[in-house]
Amino acid sequence: MRYRKLGNTGLTVSEIGFGTIPILSGNVPVLPDYYSPDTETAINIMTHALNLGCNLFDTAIVPEYGDAEIKLGAFAKRVGREKIIISDKSRFFTGNEIYEAVLTSCENLGTYADIYFAHQVDPGNAEATFGPYGAVHALTELKAEGKIRFTGIASHYYDILLRGAKDPRIDVLQGSGNILERGMLDRIERESAFSTKGLLINKVYAAGILPGYFPVETLIEGVLSYPISSALIGLGTITEVDQALTGDFSSEHRPDYREILSVLKKNFSPILCDRCQKCYCVHNTEIHTVFRQFNYYFLGKNYWALRKLDLNIRESAESCNRCTDRSCMKQCPRGLKIPQLMNQIRNLTEAHIRNSII
Ligand code: SF4
Ligand code: SF4
Repeated sequence: MRYRKLGNTGLTVSEIGFGTIPILSGNVPVLPDYYSPDTETAINIMTHALNLGCNLFDTAIVPEYGDAEIKLGAFAKRVGREKIIISDKSRFFTGNEIYEAVLTSCENLGTYADIYFAHQVDPGNAEATFGPYGAVHALTELKAEGKIRFTGIASHYYDILLRGAKDPRIDVLQGSGNILERGMLDRIERESAFSTKGLLINKVYAAGILPGYFPVETLIEGVLSYPISSALIGLGTITEVDQALTGDFSSEHRPDYREILSVLKKNFSPILCDRCQKCYCVHNTEIHTVFRQFNYYFLGKNYWALRKLDLNIRESAESCNRCTDRSCMKQCPRGLKIPQLMNQIRNLTEAHIRNSII
């Protein structure tokens, strides 16, 4: 196992971190396979990862990740709190709410969290999060009081991570990316504001999809080729721990985007959107999310993708048909014909929804 600096925190983290979703008991849809192990089994799996050099364990408040936070706390107590770094989070955006959430998380863990993130910060809650008496303010206070060691922002949105990168109150960022959805990582690599922050990256396996198409070495090395602190991998069995933690990732080879697409093209015609998030829709369609759902439909998450697409794809396609602005296409470095694709996805969704009803 190799280690990297976590920004300016002074911490050194294993370049592969343990994501605790698969050890939760319960059901978190969309996310990687979960195995619902009992606490003793979960502790054994995490201990195995620790013995292989993993020192970073990422979780979220109960019930966001089921009972994973409690299992992680039991593991910390068993192996010795000082041996591991705990990264925790919750989806609260006002100061009061996240302050209470951190205290609850500490109770669940039976200890402090090294890093605590305001989780799933998005354009709709960013002002509450970063503004006066918001979550960032409260996390800064909790840090000063010694209840957490470092503050964090977790988001799937580049602009929000960039805002966090420029905010001196934030120590660590958590974003998502993989060898297919690498647009955000490409932008982070080119933006100097990120250089002083710790950066954890999740969705390395794309919710468990990509290992069906690529070796885990390719997936992990590809993400580690970016200037990140640690790649978080959801692990739920000893075998998965061995696969992720015993490989040789030292070449940090980044496969060419076209190579990745050529593998996927054997199964379907993927939309060539790398989720760079450079496009904005005047009608607020989240273009990159719609395109992801299309690709995920063919990659094995068909039920989930269809359900999500069915919520708003008709309105999105109709907006495109009426749209006179169409600036989204000028913003797309890949030259995607976005309105056409929206209509194609609407047709696909309607056909499959019809078939599933029949
Ligand atoms: S063409 Fe469609 S996606 Fe592009 S800006 Fe107009 S409504 Fe939005
Ligand atoms: S549609 Fe184009 S600009 Fe928008 S996220 Fe995808 S690749 Fe980037």
